[in-house]
Amino acid sequence: MVKRNADGWSPDSWKSKPVSQQIKYGDPQALQQVVAKLCQLPPLVSSSEVDTLREHIAEAQRGERFIVQGGDCAESFSDCNADAISRKVRSLLSLSLLISQKTQKPITRVGRIAGQYAKPRSALTETQGDTTLTSYRGDLVNHVHFSESARAPDPARMLEGYSYASLTLNYIRSLLESEMDQLFNLEDEVSSLKSLASKKELHKSLRNFQDALSIFHQFNGKQAAHKNLTEFYTSHEALHLHYEQALTRQAINGRWYNLSTHFPWVGMRTVQSESAHLEYLRGIANPIAIKVGPTVNPQDLVELCQWLNPNNEDGRLTLIQRFGHREIGKTLPAMIEALQKANIKVLWSCDPMHGNTELSANGFKTRDFAHVLSELQQAFDIHKEYDSFLGAVHLEMTGEAVMECVGSSYSVEPKELGEAYTSLVDPRLNLSQAFELIDSLELNSVK
Ligand code: PEP
Ligand code: MN
Repeated sequence: MVKRNADGWSPDSWKSKPVSQQIKYGDPQALQQVVAKLCQLPPLVSSSEVDTLREHIAEAQRGERFIVQGGDCAESFSDCNADAISRKVRSLLSLSLLISQKTQKPITRVGRIAGQYAKPRSALTETQGDTTLTSYRGDLVNHVHFSESARAPDPARMLEGYSYASLTLNYIRSLLESEMDQLFNLEDEVSSLKSLASKKELHKSLRNFQDALSIFHQFNGKQAAHKNLTEFYTSHEALHLHYEQALTRQAINGRWYNLSTHFPWVGMRTVQSESAHLEYLRGIANPIAIKVGPTVNPQDLVELCQWLNPNNEDGRLTLIQRFGHREIGKTLPAMIEALQKANIKVLWSCDPMHGNTELSANGFKTRDFAHVLSELQQAFDIHKEYDSFLGAVHLEMTGEAVMECVGSSYSVEPKELGEAYTSLVDPRLNLSQAFELIDSLELNSVK
């Protein structure tokens, strides 16, 4: 029998609420068998790691730390190989050093990794020619190939996803423990970027990174620096509730944790009040993040925070603002003020990607680097102006030399978008663009 808390919450109490973005499986019995199997498998992360991340988030809420969260929009099962994983880890580590130098704060790294396999979609079907099929919903659900069999949701993919997440995490842990020096050998990345980029700014960013690393070593000693850098946390959108529920376990302290990841977030398409996703998240002890779009009413946001964190606990809530460069100035101030008035503790994070998505003339989903930079810079400035502060950044980025976002000194032209576009869903910054984004920020007066 499923244990239920006094407040009526249990890992499956979400089932009594409306589920948006629900997956319709053809064979409910097969789904039940997969969920039962997942329930028996060991957790992927530990509750003590989750608690440590929560402390880091609490520090970031007080302005003593900065969090960088980044990775693919959608991870694919085929990316579960040594090269791809180590490139992802190296990219986030190197970027975090640049951010540390820029913000003058210790950094905590969180990957969109080891489980970012399920995707919400604005359109639930996709039409090509005369054929209409279920949209691609992430490797956890179906296959991206456009055919009826590939697009049919298959519950067995959840078991595969669990295995790939576990293999990915295992490799990350071993990389961080034993191959630190190699992790900072960015020669491959630098040379692949050099062959594509021409302008000076990129080289300046890369030099800044090398300087940051040597300063880090000088002041902390190599061993201590490594210890700090080996902390690496995972996150994904808690979208597929059957999967999340099956990996939810009660710890020795009596609290329930989602142990498929350290840091689950709820996406903008599933955050409606009374939603199944919010019901699930309210009962777990992990730090949780909420994506906040421009149409959210400030008072509703206050009530949501109070409901998800009734005791106003430190480190519990992160709000990932994703407004777009045109909207942020109109919407963010009122939200900050409403939360301040109600004395609500949150960590503010800026996702400068999702509010700036556009379709290029040649049909590619893209984002303009100038818009991404503008939103991030405005986020820092507006928080400061309203006596708040930005303590985290959330990026869709990759260490692969892709051309998915336009602009920057990397100079991706819209017409080049077809040449190196491998994202399964949303466009990512390549490493050069991510470096340049951070390098271009003006934070001198950020508190
Ligand atoms: C995402 O992070 O990939 C995503 C879908 O974001 P949002 O919910 O903010 O649109
Ligand atoms: Mn995305």
